[in-house]
Amino acid sequence: KAKSQGRNRYIFFDQEMNQETNEHLEVEKSLHKALVNQEFVLHYQPQVNLKSGKIIGFEALLRWKHPKRGLTAPGYFIHVAEESELIIEIGNWVIKEVMRQLKEWHDKGLRPGKVAINIAGKQLESNHLIAFILQNLKESGCRPEWIELEIVERFIMKDATKSIALLKRFRELGLDISIDDFGTGHSSLAYLKELPITKLKIDQSFVQNLENSSEDRAIARTIIELGRGLGLVVLAEGVETKAQKELIHSSGCDLIQGYVFSKPVDAKSVEEMLKNQSHML
Ligand code: C2E
Ligand code: MG
Ligand code: MG
Ligand code: MG
Repeated sequence: KAKSQGRNRYIFFDQEMNQETNEHLEVEKSLHKALVNQEFVLHYQPQVNLKSGKIIGFEALLRWKHPKRGLTAPGYFIHVAEESELIIEIGNWVIKEVMRQLKEWHDKGLRPGKVAINIAGKQLESNHLIAFILQNLKESGCRPEWIELEIVERFIMKDATKSIALLKRFRELGLDISIDDFGTGHSSLAYLKELPITKLKIDQSFVQNLENSSEDRAIARTIIELGRGLGLVVLAEGVETKAQKELIHSSGCDLIQGYVFSKPVDAKSVEEMLKNQSHML
Protein backbone atom coordinates (compact mmCIF):
# COMPACT_ATOMS: atom_id res chain seq x y z
CA LYS A 1 0.00 0.00 0.00
CA ALA A 2 2.63 2.47 1.11
CA LYS A 3 4.74 1.55 -1.85
CA SER A 4 2.00 2.17 -4.38
CA GLN A 5 1.16 5.47 -2.69
CA GLY A 6 4.78 6.41 -3.01
CA ARG A 7 4.68 5.55 -6.68
CA ASN A 8 1.62 7.63 -7.22
CA ARG A 9 3.33 10.51 -5.60
CA TYR A 10 6.22 10.24 -8.00
CA ILE A 11 3.81 10.14 -10.91
CA PHE A 12 2.11 13.23 -9.54
CA PHE A 13 5.45 15.09 -9.23
CA ASP A 14 6.44 13.92 -12.69
CA GLN A 15 3.29 15.32 -14.22
CA GLU A 16 3.75 18.59 -12.41
CA MET A 17 7.32 18.83 -13.59
CA ASN A 18 6.31 17.99 -17.12
CA GLN A 19 3.73 20.70 -17.05
CA GLU A 20 6.33 23.20 -15.85
CA THR A 21 8.82 22.10 -18.49
CA ASN A 22 6.16 22.34 -21.16
CA GLU A 23 5.17 25.82 -20.10
CA HIS A 24 8.83 26.83 -20.02
CA LEU A 25 9.34 25.52 -23.56
CA GLU A 26 6.13 27.16 -24.68
CA VAL A 27 7.23 30.56 -23.35
CA GLU A 28 10.69 30.13 -24.86
CA LYS A 29 9.23 29.35 -28.27
CA SER A 30 6.88 32.31 -28.24
CA LEU A 31 9.67 34.64 -27.04
CA HIS A 32 11.46 33.89 -30.30
CA LYS A 33 8.33 34.87 -32.19
CA ALA A 34 7.90 37.96 -30.04
CA LEU A 35 11.30 39.25 -31.14
CA VAL A 36 10.56 38.64 -34.81
CA ASN A 37 7.04 40.12 -34.59
CA GLN A 38 8.19 43.09 -32.51
CA GLU A 39 5.82 42.38 -29.63
CA PHE A 40 7.99 44.04 -26.98
CA VAL A 41 7.42 47.53 -25.72
CA LEU A 42 8.97 49.60 -22.94
CA HIS A 43 7.17 51.28 -20.11
CA TYR A 44 8.88 53.85 -17.92
CA GLN A 45 8.52 54.46 -14.21
CA PRO A 46 9.51 57.88 -12.85
CA GLN A 47 12.08 58.34 -10.10
CA VAL A 48 11.25 61.33 -7.95
CA ASN A 49 13.11 63.68 -5.66
CA LEU A 50 10.96 64.12 -2.55
CA LYS A 51 12.45 67.51 -1.69
CA SER A 52 11.69 69.16 -5.02
CA GLY A 53 8.78 66.91 -5.98
CA LYS A 54 10.38 66.60 -9.40
CA ILE A 55 11.09 63.68 -11.69
CA ILE A 56 14.83 63.05 -11.91
CA GLY A 57 14.73 60.06 -14.24
CA PHE A 58 12.96 56.87 -15.22
CA GLU A 59 13.49 53.12 -15.17
CA ALA A 60 12.74 51.34 -18.45
CA LEU A 61 10.65 48.22 -17.80
CA LEU A 62 9.97 45.59 -20.42
CA ARG A 63 6.44 44.65 -21.43
CA TRP A 64 5.25 42.01 -23.88
CA LYS A 65 2.22 42.66 -26.06
CA HIS A 66 1.31 38.99 -25.97
CA PRO A 67 -1.11 37.96 -28.75
CA LYS A 68 -3.28 35.98 -26.29
CA ARG A 69 -2.43 37.33 -22.81
CA GLY A 70 -2.39 41.02 -23.67
CA LEU A 71 0.15 43.41 -22.12
CA THR A 72 2.32 41.17 -19.95
CA ALA A 73 4.86 42.12 -17.23
CA PRO A 74 8.28 40.38 -17.02
CA GLY A 75 7.26 38.12 -14.12
CA TYR A 76 5.76 35.76 -16.69
CA PHE A 77 8.71 35.47 -19.02
CA ILE A 78 11.95 37.17 -17.90
CA HIS A 79 13.26 34.12 -15.98
CA VAL A 80 12.84 32.00 -19.12
CA ALA A 81 14.66 34.60 -21.20
CA GLU A 82 17.44 34.99 -18.61
CA GLU A 83 18.06 31.23 -18.45
CA SER A 84 18.49 31.04 -22.22
CA GLU A 85 20.55 33.04 -24.68
CA LEU A 86 17.38 34.91 -25.63
CA ILE A 87 18.11 37.53 -22.98
CA ILE A 88 21.03 38.77 -25.07
CA GLU A 89 18.82 39.54 -28.04
CA ILE A 90 15.99 40.89 -25.91
CA GLY A 91 18.47 42.96 -23.87
CA ASN A 92 19.97 44.35 -27.06
CA TRP A 93 16.52 45.36 -28.22
CA VAL A 94 15.91 47.15 -24.90
CA ILE A 95 19.20 49.06 -25.17
CA LYS A 96 18.49 50.13 -28.76
CA GLU A 97 14.93 51.16 -27.96
CA VAL A 98 15.91 53.24 -24.91
CA MET A 99 18.55 55.06 -26.96
CA ARG A 100 16.14 55.71 -29.82
CA GLN A 101 13.51 56.99 -27.40
CA LEU A 102 15.95 59.22 -25.50
CA LYS A 103 17.18 60.82 -28.71
CA GLU A 104 13.59 61.45 -29.80
CA TRP A 105 12.67 63.01 -26.44
CA HIS A 106 15.71 65.26 -26.40
CA ASP A 107 15.07 66.31 -30.01
CA LYS A 108 11.56 67.34 -28.92
CA GLY A 109 13.07 69.47 -26.16
CA LEU A 110 11.97 67.09 -23.40
CA ARG A 111 14.33 66.45 -20.48
CA PRO A 112 13.56 63.06 -18.95
CA GLY A 113 16.71 62.86 -16.83
CA LYS A 114 18.57 59.58 -16.78
CA VAL A 115 16.82 56.45 -18.01
CA ALA A 116 17.87 53.23 -16.26
CA ILE A 117 18.20 49.98 -18.21
CA ASN A 118 18.08 46.60 -16.44
CA ILE A 119 21.04 44.44 -17.44
CA ALA A 120 20.89 40.68 -16.88
CA GLY A 121 23.82 38.52 -15.74
CA LYS A 122 24.27 36.84 -19.11
CA GLN A 123 24.49 40.22 -20.83
CA LEU A 124 27.30 41.33 -18.52
CA GLU A 125 29.10 38.03 -18.97
CA SER A 126 29.01 38.28 -22.75
CA ASN A 127 32.05 40.17 -23.93
CA HIS A 128 30.06 42.13 -26.48
CA LEU A 129 28.03 44.39 -24.22
CA ILE A 130 30.44 47.31 -24.13
CA ALA A 131 31.03 47.26 -27.88
CA PHE A 132 27.29 46.99 -28.49
CA ILE A 133 26.53 49.97 -26.28
CA LEU A 134 29.32 52.03 -27.78
CA GLN A 135 28.23 51.34 -31.34
CA ASN A 136 24.60 52.12 -30.58
CA LEU A 137 25.46 55.34 -28.78
CA LYS A 138 27.17 56.43 -31.99
CA GLU A 139 24.39 55.29 -34.29
CA SER A 140 21.53 56.69 -32.21
CA GLY A 141 22.99 60.03 -31.22
CA CYS A 142 22.07 59.23 -27.62
CA ARG A 143 24.53 60.54 -25.03
CA PRO A 144 26.07 58.24 -22.44
CA GLU A 145 25.16 60.59 -19.59
CA TRP A 146 21.47 60.06 -20.37
CA ILE A 147 21.76 56.41 -19.39
CA GLU A 148 22.16 54.39 -16.22
CA LEU A 149 22.70 50.63 -16.11
CA GLU A 150 20.91 48.70 -13.36
CA ILE A 151 22.47 45.49 -12.19
CA VAL A 152 21.17 43.30 -9.39
CA GLU A 153 23.42 43.00 -6.37
CA ARG A 154 23.47 39.20 -6.57
CA PHE A 155 25.05 39.33 -9.98
CA ILE A 156 27.67 41.99 -9.26
CA MET A 157 28.88 40.02 -6.25
CA LYS A 158 29.06 36.72 -8.14
CA ASP A 159 32.53 37.70 -9.31
CA ALA A 160 33.22 41.03 -7.64
CA THR A 161 36.76 41.45 -8.95
CA LYS A 162 35.60 40.99 -12.52
CA SER A 163 32.59 43.25 -11.96
CA ILE A 164 34.80 46.06 -10.67
CA ALA A 165 36.92 45.98 -13.84
CA LEU A 166 33.91 45.82 -16.14
CA LEU A 167 31.91 48.51 -14.39
CA LYS A 168 34.94 50.82 -14.47
CA ARG A 169 34.87 50.63 -18.25
CA PHE A 170 31.21 51.62 -18.33
CA ARG A 171 31.92 54.57 -16.07
CA GLU A 172 34.75 55.63 -18.36
CA LEU A 173 32.22 55.72 -21.20
CA GLY A 174 30.14 58.11 -19.09
CA LEU A 175 27.37 55.73 -18.03
CA ASP A 176 26.04 55.66 -14.47
CA ILE A 177 25.66 52.34 -12.66
CA SER A 178 23.14 51.46 -9.98
CA ILE A 179 22.87 48.37 -7.84
CA ASP A 180 19.34 47.00 -8.08
CA ASP A 181 17.48 45.18 -5.29
CA PHE A 182 20.16 46.21 -2.80
CA GLY A 183 20.07 44.39 0.51
CA THR A 184 19.04 41.02 -0.91
CA GLY A 185 22.32 39.74 -2.31
CA HIS A 186 24.87 39.64 0.53
CA SER A 187 27.21 42.38 -0.62
CA SER A 188 30.65 42.24 0.83
CA LEU A 189 31.27 45.66 2.30
CA ALA A 190 34.93 45.39 1.38
CA TYR A 191 33.97 45.12 -2.28
CA LEU A 192 31.18 47.62 -2.09
CA LYS A 193 33.64 50.43 -1.44
CA GLU A 194 35.66 49.39 -4.51
CA LEU A 195 32.71 49.22 -6.87
CA PRO A 196 32.55 52.11 -9.32
CA ILE A 197 28.83 52.58 -8.87
CA THR A 198 26.72 55.70 -8.50
CA LYS A 199 23.44 54.58 -6.92
CA LEU A 200 21.96 52.06 -4.50
CA LYS A 201 18.35 51.00 -4.97
CA ILE A 202 16.91 49.73 -1.68
CA ASP A 203 14.95 46.58 -2.46
CA GLN A 204 11.20 46.91 -2.20
CA SER A 205 10.97 44.02 0.26
CA PHE A 206 12.38 46.35 2.95
CA VAL A 207 9.99 49.14 1.98
CA GLN A 208 6.82 47.03 2.01
CA ASN A 209 6.67 46.60 5.80
CA LEU A 210 8.27 49.85 6.92
CA GLU A 211 5.16 50.85 8.83
CA ASN A 212 4.97 47.67 10.90
CA SER A 213 8.52 46.44 11.10
CA SER A 214 11.09 48.26 13.21
CA GLU A 215 13.65 45.78 11.80
CA ASP A 216 12.93 46.87 8.24
CA ARG A 217 13.09 50.50 9.31
CA ALA A 218 16.52 49.81 10.81
CA ILE A 219 17.70 48.10 7.62
CA ALA A 220 16.42 50.91 5.41
CA ARG A 221 18.08 53.56 7.59
CA THR A 222 21.33 51.62 7.61
CA ILE A 223 21.41 51.29 3.82
CA ILE A 224 20.70 55.01 3.47
CA GLU A 225 23.56 55.86 5.88
CA LEU A 226 25.89 53.41 4.18
CA GLY A 227 25.15 54.76 0.72
CA ARG A 228 25.65 58.34 1.83
CA GLY A 229 28.89 57.46 3.59
CA LEU A 230 30.16 55.95 0.36
CA GLY A 231 29.16 59.03 -1.60
CA LEU A 232 26.36 57.26 -3.45
CA VAL A 233 22.85 58.28 -4.35
CA VAL A 234 20.24 56.15 -2.58
CA LEU A 235 16.76 55.46 -3.92
CA ALA A 236 13.92 53.49 -2.30
CA GLU A 237 12.01 51.15 -4.61
CA GLY A 238 8.39 50.05 -4.40
CA VAL A 239 7.11 52.93 -2.28
CA GLU A 240 3.33 52.50 -2.36
CA THR A 241 1.87 54.50 0.51
CA LYS A 242 2.15 58.00 1.88
CA ALA A 243 3.29 56.56 5.23
CA GLN A 244 6.14 54.63 3.56
CA LYS A 245 7.12 57.73 1.63
CA GLU A 246 7.30 59.77 4.83
CA LEU A 247 9.28 57.13 6.70
CA ILE A 248 11.76 56.94 3.82
CA HIS A 249 12.03 60.72 3.68
CA SER A 250 12.55 61.09 7.43
CA SER A 251 15.27 58.43 7.23
CA GLY A 252 17.24 60.79 5.03
CA CYS A 253 16.50 59.36 1.59
CA ASP A 254 15.37 61.85 -1.04
CA LEU A 255 14.74 59.60 -4.03
CA ILE A 256 11.86 57.21 -4.50
CA GLN A 257 10.32 55.09 -7.21
CA GLY A 258 6.90 53.55 -6.64
CA TYR A 259 3.17 53.47 -7.13
CA VAL A 260 2.71 56.31 -4.61
CA PHE A 261 3.97 58.61 -7.35
CA SER A 262 3.29 56.59 -10.51
CA LYS A 263 3.16 53.09 -11.94
CA PRO A 264 5.27 52.40 -15.01
CA VAL A 265 3.62 54.18 -17.98
CA ASP A 266 4.00 54.15 -21.76
CA ALA A 267 6.20 56.59 -23.66
CA LYS A 268 3.32 58.89 -24.59
CA SER A 269 2.39 59.31 -20.92
CA VAL A 270 6.03 60.09 -20.07
CA GLU A 271 5.82 63.02 -22.48
CA GLU A 272 2.66 64.29 -20.78
CA MET A 273 4.29 63.98 -17.36
CA LEU A 274 7.35 65.92 -18.47
CA LYS A 275 5.30 68.66 -20.12
CA ASN A 276 3.15 69.06 -16.98
CA GLN A 277 6.25 69.18 -14.83
CA SER A 278 7.85 71.95 -16.87
CA HIS A 279 4.68 74.01 -16.39
CA MET A 280 5.20 73.63 -12.67
CA LEU A 281 8.66 75.19 -12.79
P1 C2E B 1 13.14 45.62 -10.96
O1 C2E B 1 14.23 46.00 -11.88
O2 C2E B 1 13.47 45.56 -9.52
O3 C2E B 1 11.96 46.66 -11.25
C1 C2E B 1 11.06 47.13 -10.29
C2 C2E B 1 9.75 46.36 -10.33
O4 C2E B 1 8.93 46.81 -9.27
C3 C2E B 1 8.93 46.59 -11.61
O5 C2E B 1 8.21 45.40 -11.90
C4 C2E B 1 7.97 47.70 -11.17
O6 C2E B 1 6.79 47.76 -11.95
C5 C2E B 1 7.67 47.24 -9.77
N1 C2E B 1 7.22 48.34 -8.91
C6 C2E B 1 7.54 49.64 -8.98
N2 C2E B 1 6.95 50.36 -8.02
C7 C2E B 1 6.22 49.48 -7.30
C8 C2E B 1 5.38 49.60 -6.14
O7 C2E B 1 5.17 50.69 -5.59
N3 C2E B 1 4.81 48.47 -5.67
C9 C2E B 1 5.02 47.25 -6.26
N4 C2E B 1 4.41 46.19 -5.73
N5 C2E B 1 5.80 47.09 -7.34
C10 C2E B 1 6.40 48.20 -7.86
P2 C2E B 1 8.12 44.81 -13.38
O8 C2E B 1 8.02 45.92 -14.38
O9 C2E B 1 7.05 43.77 -13.37
O10 C2E B 1 9.53 44.12 -13.57
C11 C2E B 1 9.92 43.04 -12.77
C12 C2E B 1 11.38 42.73 -12.94
O11 C2E B 1 11.64 42.26 -14.26
C13 C2E B 1 12.32 43.91 -12.74
O12 C2E B 1 12.53 44.17 -11.37
C14 C2E B 1 13.55 43.41 -13.45
O13 C2E B 1 14.28 42.54 -12.62
C15 C2E B 1 12.96 42.61 -14.59
N6 C2E B 1 12.99 43.43 -15.82
C16 C2E B 1 12.16 44.39 -16.25
N7 C2E B 1 12.56 44.92 -17.44
C17 C2E B 1 13.70 44.25 -17.77
C18 C2E B 1 14.61 44.33 -18.87
O14 C2E B 1 14.49 45.15 -19.79
N8 C2E B 1 15.68 43.47 -18.85
C19 C2E B 1 15.86 42.57 -17.83
N9 C2E B 1 16.93 41.74 -17.89
N10 C2E B 1 15.04 42.49 -16.77
C20 C2E B 1 13.98 43.31 -16.74
MG1 MG C 1 15.56 47.44 -11.98
MG1 MG D 1 14.64 46.46 -8.22
MG1 MG E 1 13.57 43.15 -8.68
